[in-house]
Amino acid sequence: MNITQFEISMDRLYEYFDRKTPNNASLIQWHKKCEHVPHMAMDWIIGWMTDNMDSPPRNMGKAINAGWYRYQESNPNKIARYNETPCDECHGKGILWYSFVEKDSDVRYQHNCICASCENWKLHFNTLKGAGMRLNKQDLFDKGYRLEGPSKDTPDFTPKVSLKALVASVGDIPF
Ligand SMILES: [Zn+2]
Repeated sequence: MNITQFEISMDRLYEYFDRKTPNNASLIQWHKKCEHVPHMAMDWIIGWMTDNMDSPPRNMGKAINAGWYRYQESNPNKIARYNETPCDECHGKGILWYSFVEKDSDVRYQHNCICASCENWKLHFNTLKGAGMRLNKQDLFDKGYRLEGPSKDTPDFTPKVSLKALVASVGDIPF
Protein backbone atom coordinates (compact mmCIF):
# COMPACT_ATOMS: atom_id res chain seq x y z
CA MET A 1 0.00 0.00 0.00
CA ASN A 2 1.24 3.49 -0.66
CA ILE A 3 1.65 6.26 1.92
CA THR A 4 -1.64 7.98 1.00
CA GLN A 5 -3.60 4.76 1.45
CA PHE A 6 -1.82 4.21 4.75
CA GLU A 7 -2.62 7.74 5.98
CA ILE A 8 -6.31 7.28 5.18
CA SER A 9 -6.35 3.99 7.13
CA MET A 10 -4.62 5.64 10.10
CA ASP A 11 -7.11 8.54 10.05
CA ARG A 12 -9.93 5.99 10.24
CA LEU A 13 -8.28 4.08 13.07
CA TYR A 14 -7.55 7.17 15.17
CA GLU A 15 -11.00 8.60 14.50
CA TYR A 16 -12.50 5.37 15.85
CA PHE A 17 -10.50 5.71 19.07
CA ASP A 18 -11.33 9.43 19.20
CA ARG A 19 -7.66 10.39 19.04
CA LYS A 20 -5.69 12.77 16.89
CA THR A 21 -3.74 11.08 14.05
CA PRO A 22 -0.01 11.25 14.87
CA ASN A 23 2.30 13.55 12.94
CA ASN A 24 3.63 12.86 9.48
CA ALA A 25 7.07 11.72 10.65
CA SER A 26 5.50 8.91 12.70
CA LEU A 27 3.26 7.91 9.82
CA ILE A 28 6.22 7.72 7.42
CA GLN A 29 8.19 5.56 9.85
CA TRP A 30 5.28 3.21 10.49
CA HIS A 31 4.53 2.96 6.79
CA LYS A 32 8.09 1.72 6.14
CA LYS A 33 7.40 -1.21 8.48
CA CYS A 34 4.24 -2.31 6.71
CA GLU A 35 4.32 -1.02 3.14
CA HIS A 36 4.40 -4.64 1.91
CA VAL A 37 0.88 -5.16 3.32
CA PRO A 38 -1.58 -4.87 0.42
CA HIS A 39 -4.11 -2.08 0.56
CA MET A 40 -6.99 -4.53 0.05
CA ALA A 41 -6.25 -6.05 3.47
CA MET A 42 -6.28 -2.79 5.41
CA ASP A 43 -10.06 -2.53 5.98
CA TRP A 44 -9.97 -5.99 7.52
CA ILE A 45 -6.88 -5.18 9.62
CA ILE A 46 -8.37 -1.92 10.93
CA GLY A 47 -11.57 -3.83 11.80
CA TRP A 48 -9.49 -6.46 13.58
CA MET A 49 -7.73 -3.74 15.60
CA THR A 50 -10.91 -1.91 16.60
CA ASP A 51 -12.52 -5.24 17.60
CA ASN A 52 -9.56 -6.37 19.70
CA MET A 53 -7.81 -3.31 21.05
CA ASP A 54 -8.84 -0.65 23.55
CA SER A 55 -6.58 2.04 22.12
CA PRO A 56 -4.33 2.54 19.09
CA PRO A 57 -1.30 0.21 19.38
CA ARG A 58 1.98 1.82 20.44
CA ASN A 59 3.99 -0.20 17.91
CA MET A 60 1.86 0.36 14.84
CA GLY A 61 4.16 -1.43 12.38
CA LYS A 62 4.18 -4.57 14.50
CA ALA A 63 0.41 -4.43 15.02
CA ILE A 64 -0.32 -4.06 11.30
CA ASN A 65 2.01 -6.95 10.49
CA ALA A 66 0.26 -9.07 13.12
CA GLY A 67 -3.06 -8.09 11.52
CA TRP A 68 -1.70 -9.04 8.12
CA TYR A 69 -0.90 -12.55 9.36
CA ARG A 70 -4.36 -12.84 10.86
CA TYR A 71 -5.84 -11.69 7.57
CA GLN A 72 -3.91 -14.34 5.65
CA GLU A 73 -5.03 -17.04 8.13
CA SER A 74 -8.64 -15.92 7.89
CA ASN A 75 -8.75 -15.36 4.12
CA PRO A 76 -6.72 -18.19 2.58
CA ASN A 77 -8.77 -17.99 -0.64
CA LYS A 78 -7.68 -14.38 -1.22
CA ILE A 79 -3.96 -15.11 -0.97
CA ALA A 80 -2.10 -16.25 -4.08
CA ARG A 81 -0.73 -19.73 -3.46
CA TYR A 82 2.85 -20.48 -4.33
CA ASN A 83 4.06 -24.05 -4.72
CA GLU A 84 7.24 -24.89 -2.86
CA THR A 85 10.25 -25.58 -5.11
CA PRO A 86 13.24 -27.75 -4.08
CA CYS A 87 16.18 -25.77 -2.69
CA ASP A 88 19.39 -27.20 -1.19
CA GLU A 89 20.01 -24.08 0.86
CA CYS A 90 16.74 -23.75 2.75
CA HIS A 91 15.10 -27.14 2.07
CA GLY A 92 12.29 -25.35 0.32
CA LYS A 93 11.32 -23.30 3.38
CA GLY A 94 12.38 -19.98 1.85
CA ILE A 95 13.92 -18.97 5.18
CA LEU A 96 17.43 -19.58 6.56
CA TRP A 97 17.99 -19.74 10.30
CA TYR A 98 21.34 -18.72 11.69
CA SER A 99 23.05 -17.82 14.94
CA PHE A 100 25.84 -15.49 15.89
CA VAL A 101 27.67 -14.35 18.99
CA GLU A 102 27.71 -10.63 19.60
CA LYS A 103 31.20 -9.11 19.78
CA ASP A 104 32.47 -8.61 23.38
CA SER A 105 29.78 -10.81 24.85
CA ASP A 106 29.03 -14.50 25.02
CA VAL A 107 25.38 -14.09 24.21
CA ARG A 108 24.30 -16.20 21.26
CA TYR A 109 21.55 -14.76 19.11
CA GLN A 110 19.37 -16.64 16.69
CA HIS A 111 17.95 -14.96 13.66
CA ASN A 112 16.57 -15.66 10.23
CA CYS A 113 16.65 -14.21 6.76
CA ILE A 114 15.09 -14.86 3.40
CA CYS A 115 16.83 -17.48 1.27
CA ALA A 116 18.50 -15.79 -1.72
CA SER A 117 18.78 -19.02 -3.70
CA CYS A 118 15.11 -19.68 -4.43
CA GLU A 119 11.71 -18.06 -4.68
CA ASN A 120 10.16 -19.96 -1.78
CA TRP A 121 9.80 -16.68 0.12
CA LYS A 122 6.56 -16.46 -1.89
CA LEU A 123 5.15 -19.05 0.51
CA HIS A 124 5.19 -16.35 3.21
CA PHE A 125 5.13 -12.97 1.51
CA ASN A 126 3.30 -11.43 -1.43
CA THR A 127 6.15 -9.04 -2.10
CA LEU A 128 9.69 -8.71 -0.82
CA LYS A 129 9.29 -4.99 -0.26
CA GLY A 130 9.88 -4.38 3.43
CA ALA A 131 10.41 -8.08 4.09
CA GLY A 132 14.11 -7.85 4.98
CA MET A 133 17.38 -9.11 3.61
CA ARG A 134 17.91 -11.99 1.21
CA LEU A 135 21.08 -13.97 1.85
CA ASN A 136 22.41 -17.39 0.93
CA LYS A 137 24.46 -19.78 3.02
CA GLN A 138 27.79 -18.42 1.78
CA ASP A 139 26.77 -14.85 2.68
CA LEU A 140 26.01 -16.03 6.21
CA PHE A 141 29.32 -17.92 6.55
CA ASP A 142 31.18 -14.87 5.19
CA LYS A 143 29.61 -12.79 7.96
CA GLY A 144 30.77 -15.33 10.54
CA TYR A 145 27.27 -16.64 11.23
CA ARG A 146 26.47 -20.27 11.91
CA LEU A 147 23.67 -21.93 10.05
CA GLU A 148 21.02 -23.42 12.33
CA GLY A 149 18.83 -25.15 9.78
CA PRO A 150 16.82 -26.55 8.25
CA SER A 151 19.58 -27.40 5.82
CA LYS A 152 21.65 -30.28 4.51
CA ASP A 153 23.96 -29.85 7.51
CA THR A 154 21.23 -29.96 10.12
CA PRO A 155 18.44 -32.03 8.56
CA ASP A 156 16.75 -32.75 11.89
CA PHE A 157 16.58 -29.12 12.92
CA THR A 158 13.25 -28.13 14.41
CA PRO A 159 12.85 -24.45 15.17
CA LYS A 160 11.82 -23.77 18.78
CA VAL A 161 9.54 -21.00 17.60
CA SER A 162 6.84 -21.50 14.99
CA LEU A 163 7.69 -20.75 11.39
CA LYS A 164 5.10 -17.99 11.44
CA ALA A 165 6.76 -16.25 14.39
CA LEU A 166 10.11 -16.55 12.66
CA VAL A 167 8.74 -15.16 9.44
CA ALA A 168 7.20 -12.29 11.38
CA SER A 169 10.63 -11.37 12.70
CA VAL A 170 12.26 -11.28 9.27
CA GLY A 171 13.14 -7.71 8.49
CA ASP A 172 14.52 -7.15 11.95
CA ILE A 173 18.04 -8.33 11.21
CA PRO A 174 20.64 -6.34 13.18
CA PHE A 175 23.28 -5.67 10.53
ZN1 LIG B 1 15.97 -21.54 -0.74
